[in-house]
Amino acid sequence: MTQKTPAAKPAEELVVFLVRSADKCVDCGCDLPPGSMILPEGQRGILCMDCADLGHLEFLPSGDTALTRRSKKHSGLWAVVVRWAPRRNRYERQGLLVEPEAIDKAEAECQADADKRAQKRESARPKREAQDREFVASFIQRILGLYPGCPPATAEEIAGHACQKHSGRVGRSAAAKELDAKAVTLAVGAFVRHRRTNYDALLSRGVDRHEARASIRAKVDETMEAWQRAKPR
Ligand SMILES: [Zn+2]
Repeated sequence: MTQKTPAAKPAEELVVFLVRSADKCVDCGCDLPPGSMILPEGQRGILCMDCADLGHLEFLPSGDTALTRRSKKHSGLWAVVVRWAPRRNRYERQGLLVEPEAIDKAEAECQADADKRAQKRESARPKREAQDREFVASFIQRILGLYPGCPPATAEEIAGHACQKHSGRVGRSAAAKELDAKAVTLAVGAFVRHRRTNYDALLSRGVDRHEARASIRAKVDETMEAWQRAKPR
């Protein structure tokens, strides 16, 4: 009474098999070389796709999840295509047989989505760049406000670093507006420490951080004080 089909397949799911050895269609008698798609016809034998009334369907290989899901949705009739995997001792899904128009529809939908996603990326980019520019510009203004003696090119460099640090954050323009003197001072101090002293060289030579900082503190203070005092050029 029970027909032997792969376990765990819902009853309503039509399953098409790839034959492993050459066979013949029980209805039309056509030759079915290994790898042909067939539909079991109970005890009678196997049917070719035309005799199974599935000849009009197109094979869609597994792999593109969205395309598969949409093709299935748009297809009035569809079948799962499986192949026996001897090493794993089980049937493995190879793809779907669906109506060609369903694939066309699904492809169009996926294409539309891809466009939308690409458009989203494209439109987000100029906005991000504008935010970056705004951030850098306000940072430079804050630096030069607090350290008028800082060369503008250096202020730009410091602001660029700060912007990169903030680049993972949403609303950089908002972050820039909130820039307080302490944040600016820290950024300028770090720049001077790393770029205008031998601090990094000391660290790479294995000098303790506290020691290294102590030995360069005077130089950092001197530079920052000079930048604070100097008139804008
Ligand atoms: Zn046939």
